[in-house]
Amino acid sequence: MTCHEPAHPRASRAARASGTPTGPIEAAEAVLRRERDRTVALVDGLAREFERFVEAAELVATDDEHDPEGHTIAFERQLVAARLRDARAHLTEVDAAAERLAAGTYGTCERCGGPVGDARLAARPAARTCMACAR
Ligand SMILES: [Zn+2]
Repeated sequence: MTCHEPAHPRASRAARASGTPTGPIEAAEAVLRRERDRTVALVDGLAREFERFVEAAELVATDDEHDPEGHTIAFERQLVAARLRDARAHLTEVDAAAERLAAGTYGTCERCGGPVGDARLAARPAARTCMACAR
């Protein structure tokens, strides 16, 4: 990570004057947009994968319910379903983070009210709490 230093207010004013969106809020917006795009693509991919498992399970079910392959498919389908749930939950978190950004509370820990921290936000843009409160 190279962005441990908080953006200097004078630097962001200069950036705004030159028309380059490099202020802390603009930067967070860009990160959240990328995170949202990535998560939407992930949800789409997992949803398609899940559909294939449903179809595969239906084919196996009509064949032989004691087929060991049926158990493997059921297990893998559960894994995909769990990842899909996680990805959708993450999408909700990313949207909630975008709302906090609009409300001006982005980057503030929801539990202690302290800063979430730039390094943590860089790693987890949708984080609601600081490192200490996340434990
Ligand atoms: Zn906290």
